[in-house]
Amino acid sequence: MRFAITSKGDHKSDVLKSRMKQYLKDFSLEYDEETPDIVISIGGDGTFLEAFHNYQHRLNETAFVGMHTGHLGFYADWLPHEVEKLIIEIAKKPFETVEYPLLDIKIHPNGNAQPQQFLALNEASVKSADGTVVVDVLIKGEHFERFRGDGLCMSTPSGSTAYNKALGGAIIHPSLDAFQLTEMASINNRVFRTVGSPLILPKHHDCELKPLHRDRSFLITIDHHTGEYEEVESIECKVSDKKIRFARFRAFPFWKRVHDSFISDERE
Ligand code: NAP
Ligand code: MN
Repeated sequence: MRFAITSKGDHKSDVLKSRMKQYLKDFSLEYDEETPDIVISIGGDGTFLEAFHNYQHRLNETAFVGMHTGHLGFYADWLPHEVEKLIIEIAKKPFETVEYPLLDIKIHPNGNAQPQQFLALNEASVKSADGTVVVDVLIKGEHFERFRGDGLCMSTPSGSTAYNKALGGAIIHPSLDAFQLTEMASINNRVFRTVGSPLILPKHHDCELKPLHRDRSFLITIDHHTGEYEEVESIECKVSDKKIRFARFRAFPFWKRVHDSFISDERE
């Protein structure tokens, strides 16, 4: 079996990385950053997002596991003191996996240029540096509302505990093939109207954002990476056909992770 390790880059994570690397080699596993069967992320959820994007081209072949060296960990749910236990589990192989849904984002430029396609593990958010975001929101091709405000966020179920939660979105269990659309400070008065509530869309219900002002640029963030886009014709979002696979070595139910992250973590 081949493995790779992504570290946050701080001292603690780097030390753990070299320990794990040596231990796993001692168990005759091969270190291979190009074609790993398993990727171990050491750091925080942000580190895990990076690991996911580095290996998003081989989701069918690569499983992920995360160890956290910081405070909170949704994707990184193994603690440093459990390192030996995790190594033994990985070395035992084969391992079980669980799959979580991802979000497909297509940014269509004006004219005939090809759309740019992205995959998100947490979310895609749309904001503007030139004032209010004004977009028509279409669901399954039907006009739903005209949104005016700071922006919109489309999150996966596992991303629902991140930015989405801060925007008043619901926490969605990742066994549901869905994504959530939340508003950022919509303008609502007698003239301008939006639904105001987060929407949860099932698979095959795509959501499209069509800017009214083509001359405005948009700041589109996919997970931890932000890009500026000019001349945007539309932004299309739907539940992806692809999924992320987590190597599962023990039961750690999603609601327990929610509890430990937001209510209290008695393990520490
Ligand atoms: P960051 O600014 O370090 O991330 C903000 C926080 O979100 C960190 O505490 C991060 O955990 C945590 N986080 C990431 N994914 C999560 C998840 N699925 N569930 C619960 N918490 C999660 O930036 P980053 O580390 O590169 O992460 C990018 C993410 O930050 C974005 O995808 C977005 O969801 C989130 N974000 C949140 C807000 C907000 O809450 N107002 C605003 C912007 C972005 P770690 O410290 O372990 O990395
Ligand atoms: Mn972070």
